[in-house]
Amino acid sequence: MILRGSVYGAPDASGIAVRAGAIAALDGDGGERLPDGAVILPGFTDAHVHLLTWASSLRELALGGASLDRVLEQVREAAGNGFVRGFGWAVEDDGALTRSALDAVSGDTPVALLAHDYHSLWVNSAALALADAPLDVEGGVVERDASGEPTGMLREASAWAFRDRYVLPSRAEQLDALREALPVLSSRGVTALHDKDGWIDCIGVVRELRASDGELPLRIWHSTPADRMDVEGAGYVKAFMDGTLGSRTARMIGGGGVEVTSREAFASIIREAAARGLPVAVHAIGDQAARDALDAFEETREAWAGLRPRIEHAQCVHPDDVPRFAALGVTASIQPAMAITDQPVAERLWGDRIERSYAYATLHRAGVRLAGGSDAPVEALDPLDGIRAAVLREWRPQERLTLEEALRAWTEVPAWLEGREATHGRLAPGYAADLVILDRDPAADLEGAQVIGTVHDGDWTYRAY
Ligand SMILES: [Zn+2]
Repeated sequence: MILRGSVYGAPDASGIAVRAGAIAALDGDGGERLPDGAVILPGFTDAHVHLLTWASSLRELALGGASLDRVLEQVREAAGNGFVRGFGWAVEDDGALTRSALDAVSGDTPVALLAHDYHSLWVNSAALALADAPLDVEGGVVERDASGEPTGMLREASAWAFRDRYVLPSRAEQLDALREALPVLSSRGVTALHDKDGWIDCIGVVRELRASDGELPLRIWHSTPADRMDVEGAGYVKAFMDGTLGSRTARMIGGGGVEVTSREAFASIIREAAARGLPVAVHAIGDQAARDALDAFEETREAWAGLRPRIEHAQCVHPDDVPRFAALGVTASIQPAMAITDQPVAERLWGDRIERSYAYATLHRAGVRLAGGSDAPVEALDPLDGIRAAVLREWRPQERLTLEEALRAWTEVPAWLEGREATHGRLAPGYAADLVILDRDPAADLEGAQVIGTVHDGDWTYRAY
């Protein structure tokens, strides 16, 4: 394959020549001409995706932005056809979200609706009736009314335990959903992703899909939960320090939030992972959670030397802790689209801590490596969407990244985290031919740029021209 046209960041190149799945030269001589104005970039890597959850979510009720009335209407329309699963509600005062509100529109059909941030689950009475184990679990909250009956709102570990046991789609459904979802990834220019669904055996489902359908149109780097490190095929370990902003479970300096893993427990997770040669990615939203995670990385740095750890989200970081990321070599894995969605809630709940929140340029200037992702299905699985959010954000514009920096977060840095920086994430001879073709130069018109072609390992996986 030889493509003739502009190559992003290489003004002298006339195109790209591909041989045996790799870039042979930045030379388009004798090749097929790209449409006028089109530009070739390295394929995008989304560094934070819940792959199976996202794929399944494409078949569920999407409640994002809907009012309470609209949510109930959607449930009424869907009820009667088996389990109603939905996600994305973001009603700020969720006291009115009760099982009886759902019962009135769903009858005997079980209903389970996850919040936008995935940390609260709203269920009806038919769903609660499926429970054959206690709703109360460690690290969870079961909202109860004055008479002690569950209201239908489950939070944190209680939400997840309920979902895992009673709500999740079957393996066959997951496999079908993933098969259907792969072309969507290619249409968005995604040639690789870092998955976070190790806890529902994404590795096994992907393996099964490969066995039946052959090679996939992208590379998937898998995680495994801290309590299941011996899973074959895992590239890194995923752990959690705290909850989220929206569920008020982010752990803040001075108190507040939920401690999912203590600093000491996290330090032993890091040591155990390092002994297996696995780097650790840890979820930390609040400033105390980030501090605890950094403390644990610092205390164990000899054990993990040579591995490449990361903190997921890093949404609120105390100024004293910002330089510690760079000093320790801990990457901040950020989801800039959240800096737009979260704004109203963050301003209300975090007050003047907003100065240290979603502070991507501050992190970048301090020398911190940034990896870019979506946290799909929390935000859209669409790298251009995340890059636009990082570069064009209007909220606290002093925290904007340049296009160059944002592109690196979706290409080079994720490849580096995987230890593939010598073969992936750049357009250079010898690198894998993972390419995305945009219809125009993003440096001139980022807002309008669209993906018109995607190549993975030298093969077209999407082409719309
Ligand atoms: Zn996530």
